[in-house]
Amino acid sequence: MPSDRRMFLSAGLGVTAALASGLTTSAQAVDRPQLSGNVSLDPEVRAAAAHDFGRLIHRQPRGVLRPASGADIAGLMRWAKGEGVKVAARGQGHSIYGRALVSDGIVVDMGAMNSIRDIKADRVVVDAGASWKDLLDATLAQGLTPPVLTNYLGLSVGGTIAVGGIGAASSRHGMQTDNVIALDVVTGDGNEVSCSAAKNPDLFDSVRAGLGQCGIVTRATLRLVRAPERIRRFQLFYRDFPSLAADQRRVLSEGRFDQLQGAVLPDGSGGWRYQLDGAVAYRSGSASDDGAVLSGLSDERGAAVIADLTYHEDALAFGKFEDLLRSKGQWSNPQPWLLTFLRGSNAERVAGDILASLKGDAVGPFGRITFYPLLTRAFHTPLVRLPEEDIVFVFNLIRIPPSNDAAAAERMVVENRTLFDRIREAGGVQYPVSAFAMSPFDWEIHFGSGWPKLREAKQRHDPGHLLAPGYNVF
Ligand SMILES: Cc1cc2nc3c(=O)[nH]c(=O)nc-3n(C[C@H](O)[C@H](O)[C@H](O)COP(=O)(O)OP(=O)(O)OC[C@H]3O[C@@H](n4cnc5c(N)ncnc54)[C@H](O)[C@@H]3O)c2cc1C
Repeated sequence: MPSDRRMFLSAGLGVTAALASGLTTSAQAVDRPQLSGNVSLDPEVRAAAAHDFGRLIHRQPRGVLRPASGADIAGLMRWAKGEGVKVAARGQGHSIYGRALVSDGIVVDMGAMNSIRDIKADRVVVDAGASWKDLLDATLAQGLTPPVLTNYLGLSVGGTIAVGGIGAASSRHGMQTDNVIALDVVTGDGNEVSCSAAKNPDLFDSVRAGLGQCGIVTRATLRLVRAPERIRRFQLFYRDFPSLAADQRRVLSEGRFDQLQGAVLPDGSGGWRYQLDGAVAYRSGSASDDGAVLSGLSDERGAAVIADLTYHEDALAFGKFEDLLRSKGQWSNPQPWLLTFLRGSNAERVAGDILASLKGDAVGPFGRITFYPLLTRAFHTPLVRLPEEDIVFVFNLIRIPPSNDAAAAERMVVENRTLFDRIREAGGVQYPVSAFAMSPFDWEIHFGSGWPKLREAKQRHDPGHLLAPGYNVF
């Protein structure tokens, strides 16, 4: 075995058999489909792929493939099909509840497939393992940006295409999956297929927000728009929850902000603070009219924080929060988050009842309850699930426990399930990155009218049910 413990397997030197059965004799590899690419059995590499950002679930894979191309992944899938071995793609590993993990299977670490290939005025071709940060850096050099950025840019393109990809500009531009032009995919049965709205549309529609069930995205063509030069950001604070929600509805309907979010934050003494977070994009040299932006709003004006940033600085703002959590040792604690969408017609009541029932330590001192409205008309991805109303509210418990207490985190996971059941009962849905277990029946309810097509696509493209077992969809 090579001394650096990483193995190139293109010659099928018996490691295929080692992966399949734990044996290492080359004779056993002779008749088996052969793997190509860089597969590691290194315990450290496998251990790193056995947990994710949430640190709530642990699953030890049998090996980790670092593919250099779609052909490497296609070879793995053909081998896995023959062996009945499960496979999980891993982007940046920022799942919260084991979605990119696989017990005794193969993790496909997309990190090496991260090239940003071709930037044109309206689109970019990028490998799926690239982070949104690297993509933004490259497109901004040409004055361009993806229309929707996630708050945190350390996520991979493939990882957010698997779930949707929501951000502060989503009321205008939908999810990141709404801004995908074309995809290259390796299906569960080992075929390399290109798809778009015009070519293989059933695969295109089952891969975008399809929780990785039908294929591994290797390359994406994404829409670009001209990037704003500057962002004027307004953080407004409210004396109570109804006042926050009323102003959020008002500024949404009037289109006052280019980006709109908001949150309920711990106030440090067991209560909450209520914050609206809006941003206006503008060109250097043109002044922002703050008076018009803030006119008639009922916030506590003396507490307002107004910041002026470049578009790039603003997009990277979450990085400061990451630095803070890392400095407090809280970035690597268990993260039992709950992410949902509420109906616009009952959001204040449902969220208000839940807020009233939560204890002060529900999200930790640096956590937050994200709460803001979205216009659903910009959302078109068939498998993205939102309540069927014109306005829905994001309602996320971003729980950042101050300690590494596994039992306390587990209690929050249990509470997440109870809260989710209340939310579902009230017509809400989850954003499928939350920390609690879902059964196949839960997923069937989740996907609703999209379920038959997803089930059919799974049968066609991953009949062995090998891909993305971490969601427990099939
Ligand atoms: C700090 C933080 C901030 C976040 N902020 C946002 C936000 O603002 N907006 C938002 O929408 N979400 C946000 N999320 C959630 C995040 O988008 C999802 O958890 C996402 O799936 C993580 O991407 P990743 O690259 O880390 O993927 P991983 O955790 O590596 O994988 C996630 C899932 O995607 C699948 N997958 C990964 N790569 C591929 C591929 N190439 N092809 C097919 N399937 C693939 C995996 O199999 C797995 O099921 C945030 C999460 C964290 C931890």
